[in-house]
Amino acid sequence: MRSDEQYMRMALEIAKAGIGQTSPNPVVGAVVVKDGEVVGLGAHLKAGEPHAEVHAVRMAGEKAKGATVYVTLEPCSHYGKTPPCADLLIETGVRRVVIATTDPNPLVAGKGIEKLQKAGIEVQLGVLKEEADELNRVFFHYVATKTPFVTLKYASSLDGKIATSTGESKWITSEAAREDVHRYRALHDAILVGVNTVIADNPSLTVRLVEGGKNPIRIVLDTHLRTPLDANVIRDGAAETWIVVGSEASEKKKRQYEKEYVKVISMDKPYIDIKELLRVLGGKRITSLFVEGGSHVHDSFIRAGAVNEIVAYFAPKIIGGKQAPTPIGGVGFANMAEVMELQIRQVERIGPDIKIVAIPNI
Ligand code: NDP
Ligand code: ZN
Repeated sequence: MRSDEQYMRMALEIAKAGIGQTSPNPVVGAVVVKDGEVVGLGAHLKAGEPHAEVHAVRMAGEKAKGATVYVTLEPCSHYGKTPPCADLLIETGVRRVVIATTDPNPLVAGKGIEKLQKAGIEVQLGVLKEEADELNRVFFHYVATKTPFVTLKYASSLDGKIATSTGESKWITSEAAREDVHRYRALHDAILVGVNTVIADNPSLTVRLVEGGKNPIRIVLDTHLRTPLDANVIRDGAAETWIVVGSEASEKKKRQYEKEYVKVISMDKPYIDIKELLRVLGGKRITSLFVEGGSHVHDSFIRAGAVNEIVAYFAPKIIGGKQAPTPIGGVGFANMAEVMELQIRQVERIGPDIKIVAIPNI
């Protein structure tokens, strides 16, 4: 017989099947165990479709009676697009429910657990909680702040340059590293760049190098509408593009951009305040944002304290030059006491390059 932890690990692995496709919902996995035998499995795969518990209990059929259910997130207790899973588990007659972590959604937040306990079901909470929290860090951040989880990405030479002194940046890293970037893109609701990057690189910001990915919404920060009308993000219709402008952008100019796939979003202030932007994007159900540069935009996100994760690629190349840009522009922090401190979460070799994933110390 396996331990609670082992079954929960199985449920966490199953939950991962939904990564990148459940937004704005969390990813969830469930395993039903009866007399030491796994009799049902399930994952939540898409918002509006059955929750993990429903799939797992259906698969278990009659055997779910008296069984133990392992679920990576507290079962829901409210009527959303589907009926509450807590009710389903009660009706099914399961004996015990093991839960990794609670659901911070105010509609659930402990109520699912309460409902189960009131019905006489034994509930155990907190098995592999850290792993489960990590798995749904985007969802938890979004629920708690109503703003997207922000990942800042850059590709640099070993000497920390993101372009040459003449502005060339294609390509610093290898194809393998760029494929990895496309994988990240596919996992996000939206990708964001500054207008100078659009002018300099004319990127498509689509998912091309890996299969099966959806194209996220493309967002350009462009206070006065300098984005060229023939830029790929305006012209190609491969995904929606939102041009974010300041309050003083001319109405006549805005109309030149508006089309089926292109929207202009005006801020309340004459400039683009990152905190305001994130609130607006959160209101439009953007739960995760992949910020791909350039250095000016990165600086603004860092200064706003709006970065949740950094993904940095380093190529074994030296670009050199005082004038060549580095990943974070602006004036930087003047004193070591003020610098942004990070924790390294992952170091990986990708082809000839190195990827480092880091998160800010809180
Ligand atoms: P950015 O792409 O960061 O764009 C900056 C411009 O965006 C600003 O000048 C501003 O123009 C507009 N903007 C609007 N609101 C904001 C805001 N709140 N914060 C910051 N910018 C805002 O420009 P950079 O010149 O810094 O970077 C471009 C260079 O970086 C290019 O050479 C490109 O090749 C390189 N690059 C390299 C990458 C890499 O990973 N190697 C990735 C991306 C770019 P306005 O006032 O008109 O609105
Ligand atoms: Zn549910």
